[in-house]
Amino acid sequence: MTAEPPRFIGSEIYRKSSFGPWHPLRIPRVSTVIDLTRAMGWLPPARYVASPRAKPAALGIWHDPAYLAALQRAEAEQVVSDETRARYHIGTHSNPVYPEMYRRPATGAGGSLLAGELLADGGVIYHPAGGTHHGMPDRANGFCFLNDPVLAILSLRRAGARRVAYVDIDAHHPDGVELAFAGDPETLLISVHEEKRWPFTGALGDDGGGNVFNLPVPRGLNDSEMAAVLDALILPRVAAFRADAIVLQCGADAVEEDPLSRLSLSNNAHWAVVAALRPLSPRYLVLGGGGYNPWSVGRLWAGVWATLAGHDIPDRLPKPAEAVLRSLSWEGNRRGRDVPEHLFTTLRDAPRAGAVGAELRARLAVLGRRAAP
Ligand SMILES: [Zn+2]
Repeated sequence: MTAEPPRFIGSEIYRKSSFGPWHPLRIPRVSTVIDLTRAMGWLPPARYVASPRAKPAALGIWHDPAYLAALQRAEAEQVVSDETRARYHIGTHSNPVYPEMYRRPATGAGGSLLAGELLADGGVIYHPAGGTHHGMPDRANGFCFLNDPVLAILSLRRAGARRVAYVDIDAHHPDGVELAFAGDPETLLISVHEEKRWPFTGALGDDGGGNVFNLPVPRGLNDSEMAAVLDALILPRVAAFRADAIVLQCGADAVEEDPLSRLSLSNNAHWAVVAALRPLSPRYLVLGGGGYNPWSVGRLWAGVWATLAGHDIPDRLPKPAEAVLRSLSWEGNRRGRDVPEHLFTTLRDAPRAGAVGAELRARLAVLGRRAAP
């Protein structure tokens, strides 16, 4: 254990970077979190760590060198051949050619690699630009060019953490992370994700050989249901695993306002998971992930930092923080017009409690009967 206060890994590379005018990742996300937490007085310079950009050799601990070379070439040339597109899935609608298409993911990966080193003696790190959980060793996948959660786990391990618990509450299944660690008894993987949604992996019965717990959830998942998932699945499994490190992928796309999923959480549900996992391991890394509504993602992730760093979230934001939220725009989405006032003036959503569905209870019971990995 260490007394070192939580640290925030960020970079300015995300501020003006866009995947293109029609892509869900055209919106600012990490820069909003930095601006909001600074406006709140929650992010003094001593707590902020600028993310290094990972070199190809460092990424090569999991990624294929030929793919990394293709990615760098695509960034330099800003165009890809049909052959490169077919082989590496770059230059597609999901994984487009854009100006920082190597430097940006390499900075996210560099932050996650650094986090593993900084946590060698224990502590808490927040890296909201991380969480690109779909990246594959030799191709881009689902807006993810690299897989920084995999690299974070490998880095934690290299820095002395043997048993790593990875928890993923993004609306989508972390197919890349499961590919990397299925069958590894020293890695516990737990994913809660919307059923019948891309990438269509992560079925209830998919146990990865014993160390993987996949919970597909029906659309409309509410805060009460997420609390049940936390109490019945996440906390007991992680506690029993006695992890040397916990990595939480805290994607912000499972909230009601997100345009890419049909789940109905409020950000209170995410913050509850963030807080509850913290005491269960000496090393704790919280990553970002999905999140495609510029207001809900900025508010949720700023609240994650408040939760980790021990700041009270006020009922109404002070003017400088409100100004950050009012400065955002969301072109090309109807929800970018007539934005509800509370998305400018608050961080905390109204709770979205509800009944815990029978289907969800049944699936939790199935996972509850599984043996420990
Ligand atoms: Zn997602």
